[in-house]
Amino acid sequence: MINLKEFEVWFVTGSQHLYGEETLKKVAEHSTIIAASLNDAKQIPVRVVFKPTVKSTEEIYSICEQANTTKNCIGIIAWMHTFSPAKMWIGGLKILQKPLCHLHTQFNRDIPWNDIDMDFMNLNQSAHGDREFGFMVSRMRKNRKVVVGHWQDPEVLEELNTFSRAAAGWNDWQGAKFVRFGDNMRFVAVTDGDKVEAEYKFGYAVNTHGIGDLVKVINETTDASIDSLIEEYEASYTLVPSLLKGGAQYSSLRDAAKIEIGLRTFLEAGNYKGFTDTFEDLHGMTQLPGIAAQRLMADGYGFAGEGDWKTSALVRAMKVMGSGLPGGNSFMEDYTYHFDPENPMVLGSHMLEICPSIAHGKPSCQIHPLGIGGKADPVRLVFNAGGGPALNASLIDMGNRFRLLVNEVEAVVPLHDLPKLPVARVLWKPLPDMKTGCAAWILAGGAHHTGYSQNLTATHLQDFADMAGIEFTLIGKDTSLYQFKNELRWNEVFYQINK
Ligand code: MN
Repeated sequence: MINLKEFEVWFVTGSQHLYGEETLKKVAEHSTIIAASLNDAKQIPVRVVFKPTVKSTEEIYSICEQANTTKNCIGIIAWMHTFSPAKMWIGGLKILQKPLCHLHTQFNRDIPWNDIDMDFMNLNQSAHGDREFGFMVSRMRKNRKVVVGHWQDPEVLEELNTFSRAAAGWNDWQGAKFVRFGDNMRFVAVTDGDKVEAEYKFGYAVNTHGIGDLVKVINETTDASIDSLIEEYEASYTLVPSLLKGGAQYSSLRDAAKIEIGLRTFLEAGNYKGFTDTFEDLHGMTQLPGIAAQRLMADGYGFAGEGDWKTSALVRAMKVMGSGLPGGNSFMEDYTYHFDPENPMVLGSHMLEICPSIAHGKPSCQIHPLGIGGKADPVRLVFNAGGGPALNASLIDMGNRFRLLVNEVEAVVPLHDLPKLPVARVLWKPLPDMKTGCAAWILAGGAHHTGYSQNLTATHLQDFADMAGIEFTLIGKDTSLYQFKNELRWNEVFYQINK
Protein backbone atom coordinates (compact mmCIF):
# COMPACT_ATOMS: atom_id res chain seq x y z
CA MET A 1 0.00 0.00 0.00
CA ILE A 2 2.98 2.32 0.35
CA ASN A 3 4.74 2.54 -3.01
CA LEU A 4 8.02 4.44 -2.72
CA LYS A 5 8.37 4.68 -6.52
CA GLU A 6 5.77 7.45 -6.35
CA PHE A 7 8.47 9.65 -4.88
CA GLU A 8 11.35 11.53 -6.46
CA VAL A 9 14.73 12.58 -5.17
CA TRP A 10 16.26 15.27 -7.35
CA PHE A 11 19.87 14.98 -8.46
CA VAL A 12 21.23 18.53 -8.52
CA THR A 13 24.74 19.31 -9.73
CA GLY A 14 26.36 22.60 -8.87
CA SER A 15 28.92 24.45 -10.98
CA GLN A 16 29.59 27.97 -12.25
CA HIS A 17 30.14 29.78 -15.59
CA LEU A 18 33.91 30.16 -15.12
CA TYR A 19 34.90 27.03 -17.03
CA GLY A 20 33.22 27.70 -20.38
CA GLU A 21 30.65 25.77 -22.42
CA GLU A 22 32.76 22.69 -23.16
CA THR A 23 33.33 21.89 -19.50
CA LEU A 24 29.71 22.56 -18.59
CA LYS A 25 28.59 20.21 -21.37
CA LYS A 26 30.75 17.48 -19.86
CA VAL A 27 29.39 18.23 -16.38
CA ALA A 28 25.81 17.86 -17.64
CA GLU A 29 26.70 14.67 -19.51
CA HIS A 30 28.28 13.09 -16.43
CA SER A 31 25.46 14.17 -14.13
CA THR A 32 22.91 12.67 -16.49
CA ILE A 33 24.75 9.36 -16.44
CA ILE A 34 25.03 9.32 -12.63
CA ALA A 35 21.38 10.30 -12.08
CA ALA A 36 20.20 7.63 -14.55
CA SER A 37 22.40 5.02 -12.91
CA LEU A 38 21.06 5.88 -9.44
CA ASN A 39 17.52 5.83 -10.79
CA ASP A 40 18.08 2.34 -12.22
CA ALA A 41 19.87 1.00 -9.14
CA LYS A 42 17.87 -1.77 -7.44
CA GLN A 43 19.01 -0.55 -4.01
CA ILE A 44 17.31 2.82 -4.39
CA PRO A 45 13.55 2.58 -3.80
CA VAL A 46 12.56 6.01 -5.16
CA ARG A 47 13.00 7.64 -8.56
CA VAL A 48 16.14 9.72 -8.97
CA VAL A 49 15.46 12.64 -11.30
CA PHE A 50 18.20 14.50 -13.14
CA LYS A 51 18.03 18.30 -12.92
CA PRO A 52 20.05 20.65 -15.16
CA THR A 53 23.30 21.97 -13.66
CA VAL A 54 22.85 25.03 -11.48
CA LYS A 55 25.46 27.75 -12.08
CA SER A 56 24.18 30.92 -10.45
CA THR A 57 22.47 32.28 -7.34
CA GLU A 58 19.22 32.57 -9.28
CA GLU A 59 19.27 29.03 -10.67
CA ILE A 60 20.06 27.60 -7.24
CA TYR A 61 17.25 29.57 -5.59
CA SER A 62 14.85 28.48 -8.29
CA ILE A 63 15.61 24.75 -8.01
CA CYS A 64 15.17 24.87 -4.21
CA GLU A 65 11.89 26.73 -4.62
CA GLN A 66 10.68 24.12 -7.11
CA ALA A 67 11.72 21.28 -4.80
CA ASN A 68 9.73 22.84 -1.95
CA THR A 69 6.54 23.05 -3.98
CA THR A 70 6.78 19.80 -5.94
CA LYS A 71 4.61 17.33 -4.06
CA ASN A 72 6.41 14.14 -5.07
CA CYS A 73 9.90 15.54 -4.50
CA ILE A 74 10.97 14.24 -1.10
CA GLY A 75 14.58 15.38 -1.11
CA ILE A 76 17.63 16.61 -2.98
CA ILE A 77 20.95 14.94 -3.68
CA ALA A 78 23.52 17.67 -4.30
CA TRP A 79 26.93 17.19 -5.91
CA MET A 80 29.56 19.72 -7.01
CA HIS A 81 31.26 18.16 -10.03
CA THR A 82 33.32 21.33 -10.40
CA PHE A 83 33.75 24.21 -8.00
CA SER A 84 30.49 25.99 -7.21
CA PRO A 85 31.24 29.09 -5.13
CA ALA A 86 29.03 28.59 -2.13
CA LYS A 87 27.83 32.15 -1.55
CA MET A 88 25.62 31.35 -4.54
CA TRP A 89 23.97 28.64 -2.40
CA ILE A 90 22.97 30.83 0.58
CA GLY A 91 19.62 32.00 -0.76
CA GLY A 92 18.56 28.57 -2.00
CA LEU A 93 19.65 26.65 1.08
CA LYS A 94 17.92 29.23 3.26
CA ILE A 95 14.52 28.42 1.79
CA LEU A 96 15.05 24.69 1.12
CA GLN A 97 12.55 22.71 3.14
CA LYS A 98 13.15 19.26 1.68
CA PRO A 99 15.79 16.90 3.13
CA LEU A 100 19.28 17.33 1.71
CA CYS A 101 21.86 14.66 0.95
CA HIS A 102 25.32 15.77 -0.09
CA LEU A 103 26.84 13.10 -2.33
CA HIS A 104 30.59 13.58 -2.20
CA THR A 105 31.55 11.59 -5.26
CA GLN A 106 33.37 12.05 -8.54
CA PHE A 107 32.61 10.83 -12.02
CA ASN A 108 35.75 8.73 -12.49
CA ARG A 109 36.54 6.19 -9.83
CA ASP A 110 40.29 5.99 -10.44
CA ILE A 111 42.94 8.53 -11.31
CA PRO A 112 43.80 7.99 -15.01
CA TRP A 113 47.48 7.79 -14.27
CA ASN A 114 48.79 7.99 -17.82
CA ASP A 115 46.34 10.50 -19.23
CA ILE A 116 45.69 12.94 -16.45
CA ASP A 117 46.28 16.55 -17.53
CA MET A 118 45.02 20.01 -16.58
CA ASP A 119 41.80 19.59 -18.62
CA PHE A 120 40.97 16.58 -16.50
CA MET A 121 41.83 18.49 -13.33
CA ASN A 122 39.66 21.41 -14.48
CA LEU A 123 36.64 19.13 -14.88
CA ASN A 124 36.97 16.76 -11.94
CA GLN A 125 37.13 19.01 -8.91
CA SER A 126 34.58 17.58 -6.53
CA ALA A 127 37.25 16.66 -3.97
CA HIS A 128 37.56 20.37 -3.25
CA GLY A 129 34.36 21.70 -4.84
CA ASP A 130 32.28 19.65 -2.42
CA ARG A 131 34.25 21.07 0.50
CA GLU A 132 33.25 24.60 -0.42
CA PHE A 133 29.62 23.46 -0.53
CA GLY A 134 30.02 21.54 2.75
CA PHE A 135 31.35 24.64 4.45
CA MET A 136 28.28 26.66 3.56
CA VAL A 137 25.83 23.99 4.74
CA SER A 138 27.75 23.76 8.03
CA ARG A 139 28.04 27.54 8.24
CA MET A 140 24.25 27.73 7.93
CA ARG A 141 23.84 24.98 10.57
CA LYS A 142 21.67 22.94 8.23
CA ASN A 143 21.21 19.24 8.88
CA ARG A 144 22.07 17.03 5.95
CA LYS A 145 23.42 13.60 5.21
CA VAL A 146 26.89 13.36 3.72
CA VAL A 147 27.63 10.27 1.62
CA VAL A 148 31.20 9.70 0.41
CA GLY A 149 32.41 7.39 -2.33
CA HIS A 150 32.16 6.52 -6.00
CA TRP A 151 28.58 6.59 -7.26
CA GLN A 152 28.72 2.93 -8.30
CA ASP A 153 30.04 1.77 -4.93
CA PRO A 154 27.40 -0.56 -3.39
CA GLU A 155 27.95 1.06 0.02
CA VAL A 156 27.16 4.47 -1.46
CA LEU A 157 23.98 3.08 -3.01
CA GLU A 158 23.03 1.60 0.34
CA GLU A 159 23.48 4.94 2.06
CA LEU A 160 21.38 6.68 -0.59
CA ASN A 161 18.77 3.97 -0.08
CA THR A 162 18.74 4.78 3.63
CA PHE A 163 18.47 8.52 2.98
CA SER A 164 15.62 8.01 0.50
CA ARG A 165 13.69 5.82 2.91
CA ALA A 166 14.12 8.28 5.77
CA ALA A 167 13.02 11.10 3.46
CA ALA A 168 9.95 9.09 2.42
CA GLY A 169 9.02 8.62 6.09
CA TRP A 170 9.52 12.31 6.74
CA ASN A 171 7.50 13.29 3.68
CA ASP A 172 4.70 11.00 4.82
CA TRP A 173 4.36 12.90 8.10
CA GLN A 174 3.86 16.25 6.38
CA GLY A 175 0.16 16.99 6.49
CA ALA A 176 -0.60 13.53 7.92
CA LYS A 177 -3.60 12.99 10.19
CA PHE A 178 -3.73 10.61 13.16
CA VAL A 179 -6.90 9.98 15.12
CA ARG A 180 -7.05 9.47 18.84
CA PHE A 181 -10.13 7.68 20.18
CA GLY A 182 -10.52 8.90 23.71
CA ASP A 183 -7.73 10.47 25.68
CA ASN A 184 -4.39 9.29 26.97
CA MET A 185 -4.52 6.45 29.52
CA ARG A 186 -5.22 8.06 32.86
CA PHE A 187 -2.14 9.28 34.76
CA VAL A 188 0.38 7.89 32.25
CA ALA A 189 3.20 10.33 31.51
CA VAL A 190 5.49 9.15 28.72
CA THR A 191 2.72 8.42 26.22
CA ASP A 192 1.46 11.99 26.48
CA GLY A 193 3.12 15.14 25.18
CA ASP A 194 2.74 18.44 23.40
CA LYS A 195 0.58 17.93 20.32
CA VAL A 196 0.91 21.56 19.28
CA GLU A 197 4.71 21.29 19.26
CA ALA A 198 4.48 17.93 17.46
CA GLU A 199 2.36 19.43 14.69
CA TYR A 200 4.74 22.37 14.36
CA LYS A 201 7.87 20.22 14.43
CA PHE A 202 6.71 17.07 12.63
CA GLY A 203 3.95 18.27 10.34
CA TYR A 204 1.29 15.80 11.45
CA ALA A 205 -1.95 16.54 13.28
CA VAL A 206 -3.46 14.48 16.08
CA ASN A 207 -7.11 15.07 16.78
CA THR A 208 -9.60 13.23 18.90
CA HIS A 209 -12.93 11.59 18.23
CA GLY A 210 -15.25 10.36 20.92
CA ILE A 211 -15.53 6.58 20.80
CA GLY A 212 -19.22 7.04 19.96
CA ASP A 213 -18.28 8.41 16.54
CA LEU A 214 -16.44 5.18 15.82
CA VAL A 215 -19.11 2.95 17.34
CA LYS A 216 -21.67 4.54 15.01
CA VAL A 217 -19.60 3.51 11.96
CA ILE A 218 -18.99 0.04 13.40
CA ASN A 219 -22.72 -0.43 13.86
CA GLU A 220 -23.39 0.38 10.20
CA THR A 221 -21.34 -2.65 9.11
CA THR A 222 -23.27 -5.11 6.94
CA ASP A 223 -23.48 -8.86 7.51
CA ALA A 224 -22.20 -9.47 3.99
CA SER A 225 -19.00 -7.51 4.62
CA ILE A 226 -18.50 -9.41 7.89
CA ASP A 227 -18.95 -12.73 6.03
CA SER A 228 -16.30 -11.83 3.48
CA LEU A 229 -13.81 -10.63 6.08
CA ILE A 230 -14.24 -13.87 8.02
CA GLU A 231 -13.41 -15.77 4.83
CA GLU A 232 -10.21 -13.73 4.69
CA TYR A 233 -9.43 -14.61 8.33
CA GLU A 234 -9.98 -18.29 7.55
CA ALA A 235 -7.64 -18.13 4.56
CA SER A 236 -4.88 -16.21 6.35
CA TYR A 237 -4.76 -17.67 9.85
CA THR A 238 -5.23 -20.88 11.77
CA LEU A 239 -8.44 -20.34 13.70
CA VAL A 240 -8.95 -22.09 17.02
CA PRO A 241 -12.01 -24.42 16.93
CA SER A 242 -14.21 -22.20 19.10
CA LEU A 243 -13.94 -19.41 16.51
CA LEU A 244 -14.98 -21.60 13.58
CA LYS A 245 -18.49 -21.46 12.22
CA GLY A 246 -20.69 -23.33 14.67
CA GLY A 247 -18.05 -22.91 17.40
CA ALA A 248 -18.98 -21.55 20.83
CA GLN A 249 -17.35 -18.15 20.21
CA TYR A 250 -18.04 -17.67 16.52
CA SER A 251 -20.16 -14.62 17.33
CA SER A 252 -17.11 -13.02 18.98
CA LEU A 253 -15.18 -13.46 15.74
CA ARG A 254 -18.01 -11.71 13.92
CA ASP A 255 -17.86 -8.89 16.47
CA ALA A 256 -14.11 -8.58 15.93
CA ALA A 257 -14.55 -8.48 12.15
CA LYS A 258 -17.25 -5.84 12.55
CA ILE A 259 -14.87 -3.70 14.61
CA GLU A 260 -12.15 -4.05 11.98
CA ILE A 261 -14.48 -3.04 9.15
CA GLY A 262 -15.79 -0.06 11.13
CA LEU A 263 -12.30 1.10 12.06
CA ARG A 264 -11.03 0.75 8.51
CA THR A 265 -14.02 2.65 7.15
CA PHE A 266 -13.49 5.42 9.70
CA LEU A 267 -9.77 5.71 8.91
CA GLU A 268 -10.35 5.73 5.16
CA ALA A 269 -13.15 8.29 5.35
CA GLY A 270 -11.01 10.62 7.46
CA ASN A 271 -7.85 10.01 5.42
CA TYR A 272 -6.02 9.00 8.59
CA LYS A 273 -2.59 7.35 8.55
CA GLY A 274 -2.93 5.83 11.98
CA PHE A 275 -4.79 5.79 15.25
CA THR A 276 -4.62 5.16 18.94
CA ASP A 277 -7.30 3.94 21.33
CA THR A 278 -7.52 3.17 25.00
CA PHE A 279 -9.09 0.32 26.93
CA GLU A 280 -10.40 2.93 29.41
CA ASP A 281 -12.72 4.37 26.81
CA LEU A 282 -14.61 1.73 24.85
CA HIS A 283 -18.22 2.70 25.47
CA GLY A 284 -20.46 0.89 23.06
CA MET A 285 -17.72 -1.43 21.77
CA THR A 286 -18.06 -5.12 22.46
CA GLN A 287 -14.31 -5.86 22.57
CA LEU A 288 -11.04 -3.97 22.63
CA PRO A 289 -9.78 -3.93 19.01
CA GLY A 290 -7.21 -6.74 18.88
CA ILE A 291 -7.08 -8.41 15.49
CA ALA A 292 -8.40 -5.15 13.99
CA ALA A 293 -5.44 -3.12 15.25
CA GLN A 294 -3.06 -5.91 14.23
CA ARG A 295 -4.33 -6.17 10.68
CA LEU A 296 -4.58 -2.42 10.16
CA MET A 297 -0.94 -2.13 11.24
CA ALA A 298 -0.01 -4.87 8.77
CA ASP A 299 -1.65 -2.74 6.06
CA GLY A 300 0.57 0.21 6.94
CA TYR A 301 -1.46 2.15 9.48
CA GLY A 302 0.32 3.54 12.52
CA PHE A 303 -0.95 2.26 15.84
CA ALA A 304 -0.15 2.40 19.52
CA GLY A 305 -2.29 1.62 22.54
CA GLU A 306 -3.43 3.74 25.47
CA GLY A 307 -3.66 7.04 23.64
CA ASP A 308 0.03 6.95 22.68
CA TRP A 309 -0.20 9.12 19.56
CA LYS A 310 3.59 9.69 19.32
CA THR A 311 4.30 5.97 19.00
CA SER A 312 1.40 5.53 16.57
CA ALA A 313 2.88 8.19 14.29
CA LEU A 314 6.36 6.72 14.68
CA VAL A 315 5.15 3.23 13.76
CA ARG A 316 3.56 4.69 10.63
CA ALA A 317 6.78 6.47 9.63
CA MET A 318 8.75 3.27 10.22
CA LYS A 319 6.36 1.35 8.00
CA VAL A 320 6.87 3.87 5.20
CA MET A 321 10.66 3.75 5.62
CA GLY A 322 10.67 -0.06 5.58
CA SER A 323 8.24 -0.38 2.67
CA GLY A 324 9.16 -3.25 0.36
CA LEU A 325 11.94 -4.60 2.58
CA PRO A 326 11.75 -8.10 4.02
CA GLY A 327 10.63 -8.14 7.68
CA GLY A 328 8.20 -5.85 9.41
CA ASN A 329 7.57 -3.02 11.85
CA SER A 330 5.27 -3.12 14.83
CA PHE A 331 4.04 -1.35 17.90
CA MET A 332 5.86 -2.97 20.83
CA GLU A 333 6.21 -2.91 24.58
CA ASP A 334 8.98 -4.23 26.80
CA TYR A 335 6.84 -6.62 28.80
CA THR A 336 8.85 -8.88 31.03
CA TYR A 337 12.46 -9.98 31.59
CA HIS A 338 14.43 -13.19 31.55
CA PHE A 339 17.22 -12.40 34.03
CA ASP A 340 19.16 -15.63 33.57
CA PRO A 341 22.75 -14.36 33.96
CA GLU A 342 23.90 -16.73 31.20
CA ASN A 343 21.22 -15.66 28.76
CA PRO A 344 19.38 -12.48 29.74
CA MET A 345 16.67 -11.17 27.41
CA VAL A 346 13.47 -9.18 27.09
CA LEU A 347 10.06 -10.51 26.19
CA GLY A 348 8.24 -7.89 24.14
CA SER A 349 4.51 -7.98 23.59
CA HIS A 350 1.32 -6.08 24.30
CA MET A 351 -2.14 -6.86 25.59
CA LEU A 352 -3.13 -7.73 22.01
CA GLU A 353 -1.77 -5.41 19.39
CA ILE A 354 1.44 -6.69 17.80
CA CYS A 355 1.67 -6.39 14.01
CA PRO A 356 1.69 -9.68 12.09
CA SER A 357 4.21 -8.16 9.63
CA ILE A 358 6.87 -9.39 12.09
CA ALA A 359 5.37 -12.90 12.43
CA HIS A 360 7.43 -15.97 11.80
CA GLY A 361 5.03 -18.46 10.24
CA LYS A 362 1.25 -18.39 10.01
CA PRO A 363 -0.42 -16.60 12.95
CA SER A 364 -2.98 -18.40 15.00
CA CYS A 365 -6.30 -16.60 15.55
CA GLN A 366 -7.41 -17.03 19.14
CA ILE A 367 -9.78 -15.68 21.75
CA HIS A 368 -9.02 -15.27 25.43
CA PRO A 369 -10.30 -13.16 28.30
CA LEU A 370 -8.63 -9.80 28.94
CA GLY A 371 -8.24 -8.79 32.57
CA ILE A 372 -8.67 -5.08 31.94
CA GLY A 373 -11.21 -2.96 30.12
CA GLY A 374 -14.27 -4.87 31.34
CA LYS A 375 -15.33 -5.97 27.84
CA ALA A 376 -16.03 -9.26 26.09
CA ASP A 377 -13.06 -11.51 25.27
CA PRO A 378 -11.12 -10.00 22.38
CA VAL A 379 -9.97 -11.92 19.31
CA ARG A 380 -6.26 -11.62 18.55
CA LEU A 381 -3.51 -13.07 16.37
CA VAL A 382 -0.87 -15.03 18.28
CA PHE A 383 2.58 -15.73 16.82
CA ASN A 384 6.30 -15.73 17.43
CA ALA A 385 8.67 -13.33 15.69
CA GLY A 386 11.91 -14.53 14.12
CA GLY A 387 15.47 -13.96 15.27
CA GLY A 388 18.08 -11.58 13.89
CA PRO A 389 19.13 -7.96 14.15
CA ALA A 390 16.31 -5.57 15.07
CA LEU A 391 15.76 -2.34 16.96
CA ASN A 392 13.39 -0.52 19.26
CA ALA A 393 12.71 3.17 18.72
CA SER A 394 10.99 5.55 21.10
CA LEU A 395 9.96 9.14 20.55
CA ILE A 396 9.62 11.07 23.78
CA ASP A 397 8.77 14.63 24.73
CA MET A 398 11.45 15.99 27.06
CA GLY A 399 9.58 19.24 27.67
CA ASN A 400 11.99 21.44 25.74
CA ARG A 401 12.50 19.06 22.81
CA PHE A 402 11.65 15.70 21.31
CA ARG A 403 14.17 12.89 21.63
CA LEU A 404 14.30 9.89 19.33
CA LEU A 405 15.96 7.03 21.16
CA VAL A 406 17.03 3.80 19.46
CA ASN A 407 18.28 0.57 20.98
CA GLU A 408 19.76 -1.97 18.62
CA VAL A 409 18.84 -5.50 19.69
CA GLU A 410 19.42 -9.07 18.64
CA ALA A 411 16.10 -10.90 18.38
CA VAL A 412 16.14 -14.56 19.35
CA VAL A 413 13.68 -17.36 18.66
CA PRO A 414 11.85 -18.45 21.83
CA LEU A 415 13.77 -21.10 23.77
CA HIS A 416 10.54 -22.83 24.74
CA ASP A 417 6.92 -22.93 23.70
CA LEU A 418 4.79 -20.48 25.61
CA PRO A 419 1.58 -22.49 25.53
CA LYS A 420 -0.34 -20.35 27.97
CA LEU A 421 0.72 -16.94 26.70
CA PRO A 422 -2.28 -15.67 24.69
CA VAL A 423 -0.49 -12.88 22.79
CA ALA A 424 2.07 -12.42 20.03
CA ARG A 425 5.58 -12.21 21.44
CA VAL A 426 9.12 -11.27 20.54
CA LEU A 427 12.32 -12.06 22.42
CA TRP A 428 15.42 -9.94 22.11
CA LYS A 429 18.75 -9.15 23.70
CA PRO A 430 19.45 -5.43 23.95
CA LEU A 431 22.88 -4.24 22.80
CA PRO A 432 25.53 -3.81 24.05
CA ASP A 433 24.28 -6.12 26.82
CA MET A 434 21.14 -6.47 28.90
CA LYS A 435 22.19 -4.37 31.88
CA THR A 436 23.87 -1.55 29.94
CA GLY A 437 21.13 -1.44 27.32
CA CYS A 438 18.29 -1.26 29.85
CA ALA A 439 20.12 1.23 32.10
CA ALA A 440 20.87 3.54 29.18
CA TRP A 441 17.25 3.33 28.00
CA ILE A 442 15.97 4.31 31.43
CA LEU A 443 18.52 7.12 31.81
CA ALA A 444 17.41 8.51 28.44
CA GLY A 445 13.76 8.42 29.54
CA GLY A 446 12.78 5.97 26.80
CA ALA A 447 9.14 4.87 26.84
CA HIS A 448 7.77 1.40 27.53
CA HIS A 449 6.13 1.69 24.13
CA THR A 450 8.29 1.50 21.01
CA GLY A 451 8.30 0.98 17.30
CA TYR A 452 10.00 -2.38 16.78
CA SER A 453 11.72 -2.92 13.44
CA GLN A 454 13.18 -5.94 11.72
CA ASN A 455 14.18 -4.07 8.58
CA LEU A 456 15.36 -0.59 9.54
CA THR A 457 18.77 0.34 10.90
CA ALA A 458 19.68 2.99 13.45
CA THR A 459 20.91 5.06 10.49
CA HIS A 460 17.41 5.25 8.98
CA LEU A 461 16.18 6.72 12.25
CA GLN A 462 19.17 8.99 12.70
CA ASP A 463 18.65 10.42 9.20
CA PHE A 464 14.96 10.78 10.02
CA ALA A 465 15.71 12.63 13.29
CA ASP A 466 18.10 14.94 11.43
CA MET A 467 15.36 15.75 8.91
CA ALA A 468 13.01 16.54 11.80
CA GLY A 469 15.73 18.54 13.55
CA ILE A 470 15.35 16.64 16.81
CA GLU A 471 17.70 14.91 19.22
CA PHE A 472 18.83 11.39 18.36
CA THR A 473 20.43 9.03 20.86
CA LEU A 474 21.64 5.53 20.07
CA ILE A 475 22.21 2.59 22.37
CA GLY A 476 24.21 0.07 20.37
CA LYS A 477 27.16 -2.26 20.46
CA ASP A 478 29.63 0.50 21.38
CA THR A 479 27.57 2.16 24.10
CA SER A 480 29.23 2.66 27.47
CA LEU A 481 27.16 4.13 30.27
CA TYR A 482 29.88 6.64 31.11
CA GLN A 483 29.86 8.04 27.57
CA PHE A 484 26.10 7.81 27.22
CA LYS A 485 25.41 9.78 30.39
CA ASN A 486 27.79 12.46 29.21
CA GLU A 487 26.04 12.61 25.84
CA LEU A 488 22.71 13.16 27.57
CA ARG A 489 24.21 15.95 29.69
CA TRP A 490 25.88 17.61 26.71
CA ASN A 491 22.72 17.35 24.65
CA GLU A 492 20.86 19.05 27.46
CA VAL A 493 23.11 22.07 27.10
CA PHE A 494 23.06 21.94 23.29
CA TYR A 495 19.27 22.01 23.10
CA GLN A 496 19.06 24.85 25.62
CA ILE A 497 21.33 26.97 23.43
CA ASN A 498 20.14 25.76 20.03
CA LYS A 499 16.57 26.98 20.12
MN1 MN B 1 0.93 -0.35 26.61
